[in-house]
Amino acid sequence: MAERPDAGAGEHAREGASSADERWMRRALDLARRAADAGEVPVGAVVVQGDVVLGESANRTVTDADPTAHAEMLAIRGAAAAQGDWRLIGTTLYVTLEPCAMCAGAIVLARIPRVVYAAADPKAGMGGSLDNLLQDRRLNHRCDVTSGILAEASGDLLRAFFRARRG
Ligand code: ZN
Repeated sequence: MAERPDAGAGEHAREGASSADERWMRRALDLARRAADAGEVPVGAVVVQGDVVLGESANRTVTDADPTAHAEMLAIRGAAAAQGDWRLIGTTLYVTLEPCAMCAGAIVLARIPRVVYAAADPKAGMGGSLDNLLQDRRLNHRCDVTSGILAEASGDLLRAFFRARRG
């Protein structure tokens, strides 16, 4: 096998990932950080089509007193409204934490072709941790999934948030 010139990129290089992925994930992380300041679990999501942001949000479950107000749900709703179409064709959803069952379901319903998430969620993740709703062959839509982009930064943010809440 040929030596890859970018082999020195190190642990953050991930299969199927690009520098654009990291750029959009940074944007999602910025949203997550602001959510933490508002007392929300710090998760951010961005729906992108080409170089255009169609929808983005952080978690708003506390602010909106709405258990369904996860970052992905709000970003998907925003993107669909912006497009005037419930099918989010040609989009990528970036989210700082592996989607839960509800959000993974919404991603499949919206026919989002590609999902990129940062940190895995061993307690609720349905993008490979507990199960993989994003790529279930029995469903009529399956996503390409890339994980691990800026996972450390996202995990640090979540851990700091929960540590501060306990303290
Ligand atoms: Zn969710």
